[in-house]
Amino acid sequence: MTPDTRPDLLDLAPDEALTTLREWFDARGEPRYRAAQVFGRLWQRPVRGFDDITELPKPLREALAEAFRISSLELATRQQSRDGTEKFLFRLHDGQFIETVAIPDGDRMTFCISSQAGCALQCAFCATGAMGFQRNLTPAEIAGQVRELRLLDPPILPTNIVFMGMGEPLMNWKAVSPSLSLLNDARALGIGARHITISTVGVLPGIEALAARPEQFRLAISIHAPSDALRRTLMPVNVKYPLVDVIAAARTFDRRVTFEYVMLGGVNDQPAHAAELAQLARDCRAFVNLIPLHPGGAMGFTPTPTEDITRFAAAVRARGVEVAVRRSRGLDIAAACGQLRTERLGRRAPVAAETDRDVHVA
Ligand code: SF4
Repeated sequence: MTPDTRPDLLDLAPDEALTTLREWFDARGEPRYRAAQVFGRLWQRPVRGFDDITELPKPLREALAEAFRISSLELATRQQSRDGTEKFLFRLHDGQFIETVAIPDGDRMTFCISSQAGCALQCAFCATGAMGFQRNLTPAEIAGQVRELRLLDPPILPTNIVFMGMGEPLMNWKAVSPSLSLLNDARALGIGARHITISTVGVLPGIEALAARPEQFRLAISIHAPSDALRRTLMPVNVKYPLVDVIAAARTFDRRVTFEYVMLGGVNDQPAHAAELAQLARDCRAFVNLIPLHPGGAMGFTPTPTEDITRFAAAVRARGVEVAVRRSRGLDIAAACGQLRTERLGRRAPVAAETDRDVHVA
């Protein structure tokens, strides 16, 4: 089969897509407004293919389809939890699978999206880390998760986006950066920057790149252990990016940072840990989010009992730090990151995990 060489319009950030389309229409002697017309049908009022852009004359639709493509993600599984959380498993063109979770909460609808197929970082408590790294996603595959849910009947529209699905987003900055533009730009998906959160283990070049963007995107840092000694045992990435440097980066980030802290029974949930965590949070005025471990979500770990989480939160709060305990959602559908894919496919051998540890900062 000959490879499809047509550029995927969904891979281009808004300005680039509009320029590409304008040049194409110019070359054909067509009016320029056509470019905005086509672009509007990629993200705002999405269509599956050019043939569905019925406001364009048929010959023009056919010519567009010869020059470009509009990719799609194949929905492999859709599961709904009793609490309304929905989980989607998408099959990519090369057989990889990624997950997206839609979490309703009052008038909010948060999408938890993936940035890589698998993950190289192997955090000890994470199902995605256990399956190994497969590959980076493209912008079309990252922002495309949101597009696919908009294309459902009835559509699901997000108010908030969190990059907390599969993968470490700042290890794939080259694709995450244009994806942020697609999510945020009013001409594309139009989600406010303050409603888009990038969650990282603390990949420093990526944090710098995110800080350099003018939009007010939010940063969440997965701390999970308040000392280097403990964090190294849970998160191998701590060797490359130690806590002290991560905290320094959080301090210089010009917006308020959130610390994510998963509660692991008997591991990181003792009173001394609460005191250390509060100190780190105060150092950079961070907000602390305590995350109950999903039962069955991590081999070899047990969830901290609810009353101990409450006590831990009180100890952090007593030291002048704002703290919240995240509600577990989708417990009956294995909605913790990587769980559904692992259940369905089993584990795959990691591919190029070593070679792809580099941070791709555009
Ligand atoms: S917690 Fe995030 S960074 Fe760590 S292994 Fe899982 S997906 Fe990767």
